Amino acid sequence: MKSPLTCLFCAQIRRHVRVRFAPSPTGMLHLGGLRTALYNYLFAKANAGSFILRVEDTDQARIVPGAVEKLVEMLTWAGLKPDEGPTIGGQYGPYIQSERMKLYQDMVQVLLQNGSAYHCFCSPKRLELLRKEAARRGEVHKYDNKCRHLSGSEVEEKLSNQTPSVVRFKLDHYTESWEDLVYGPITYDVASIEGDPILLKSDGFPTYHLANVVDDHHMEISHILRGEEWQASTTKHILLYKAFGWAPPKFAHLPLMLNRDGTKLSKRQGDIHVECFKDKGYYPEAVLNFITYLGGGFPHSGLQVGGFTLQELVDKFSLSSLSTHSAKIDVEMIDVYNRQHLVRLLQSETTRRALIEETRHLVRETFAHKMLENIDLQNYTLSNEYIGKVLHWAVVRIHRLQELVETQFEFVWVIPSRDITQALQYLHSNPEIILQTISLVEAMDDFSSFQLITKQLKKLAKTEDVKFSTFMKYLRKALSGLDEGPSVAEMICLLGQESTVLRLRHTYELLTQS
Ligand code: GLU
Repeated sequence: MKSPLTCLFCAQIRRHVRVRFAPSPTGMLHLGGLRTALYNYLFAKANAGSFILRVEDTDQARIVPGAVEKLVEMLTWAGLKPDEGPTIGGQYGPYIQSERMKLYQDMVQVLLQNGSAYHCFCSPKRLELLRKEAARRGEVHKYDNKCRHLSGSEVEEKLSNQTPSVVRFKLDHYTESWEDLVYGPITYDVASIEGDPILLKSDGFPTYHLANVVDDHHMEISHILRGEEWQASTTKHILLYKAFGWAPPKFAHLPLMLNRDGTKLSKRQGDIHVECFKDKGYYPEAVLNFITYLGGGFPHSGLQVGGFTLQELVDKFSLSSLSTHSAKIDVEMIDVYNRQHLVRLLQSETTRRALIEETRHLVRETFAHKMLENIDLQNYTLSNEYIGKVLHWAVVRIHRLQELVETQFEFVWVIPSRDITQALQYLHSNPEIILQTISLVEAMDDFSSFQLITKQLKKLAKTEDVKFSTFMKYLRKALSGLDEGPSVAEMICLLGQESTVLRLRHTYELLTQS
């Protein structure tokens, strides 16, 4: 930990951009939290600076066990790797506030000694009474600053009697404005609304305000980028910096992210947890692009230019393009970004190979038990060539890779089960048509045109004297087990000769055995 003395020089050496993401481990990381982390990361990297993770766990009662580990896991998944933080350390650590208690206690002494803070002995009962009275008058509760006026000897006496106490900050009226890098000049006289805030609680733990300011200073944070909901606290923080005699960092508040109905995001909302997107198979790039689309920060934000990599987002990010309007989340848009990313992955040879590998793994994992005993067919289905072809075909039909192993696309990977026999009753009376179709497909040498295949199937239907639509209905069932879906010609194109013939032979055997 840096000594306070070293930090006397901080103002001069604070050229390097240092920003922090400072979550409280009170639940799962949601889109709002990820947005704060992302913008801090982008700002740091765009300015050759450092991105720091600091865990603010001073409200011990609200800590959720395992939350820090999950948080680090989600940031890692999103690619927002901190340069300093609890798991990797750094020269300004520790990075968990509950491990920095001595520093907060020492800093409170500084404020007590210079007269900016005072001991308060008001009992919880008295405070409750004040709260009730304010409520009866229809006013917002405001501590009446009673203990500000205790004499030195009164304080000494109470302290030596071990009367439980907290330390409060003398909140002065502040009518100057400070510059928000996003919102412009802000004037907020917090003392006209609030009583003196607590800095140190009776259990010896600091409050958010004290720990936050002390750490931002000692960690030499140059810019604070955080949600707009903290803007009201900033005046209080600026007063604290003044009381310590420290130069405050620069502040930028990010507009609120709201639910579609205009309500605030909450850590309890499962559908906006970052982990939920990860588990559903969304790519981190899709989630990040979605967030930037909502929050601005790019000269030409918007759908038409999505699909950026994290590095591209860094290169394009500009704080001055951040919007001041709160954004309503339309979660479905993540699908659009995810597809965009899939398209992008298919465009370069290296990422295409990785995508094929990912698909093969997914297919094996899902269908290993259903895959044909026919090793040749299995090898064919899992070959790079076939998976690559399926991906090109599917990318306009799916948003997430996982959809490729859902029911409607199962036929792509496995042949229909015996259950289709019943549905193929019609063909019982005419199994020969299956043999004719096999011969037709075996004779085909061009599987690239739906039209050509349809033409040949129509010709066969005519020769065999069956209605084309009926023929197609049963052929679709035989090939895929589906009643609806892509056209039969499209299926044949996709499956290719080997797989189509094998499926038809399988159907023929089912019909002639039963
Ligand atoms: N611990 C606060 C939070 O949970 C940090 C706010 C700030 O960035 O100052 O969001």
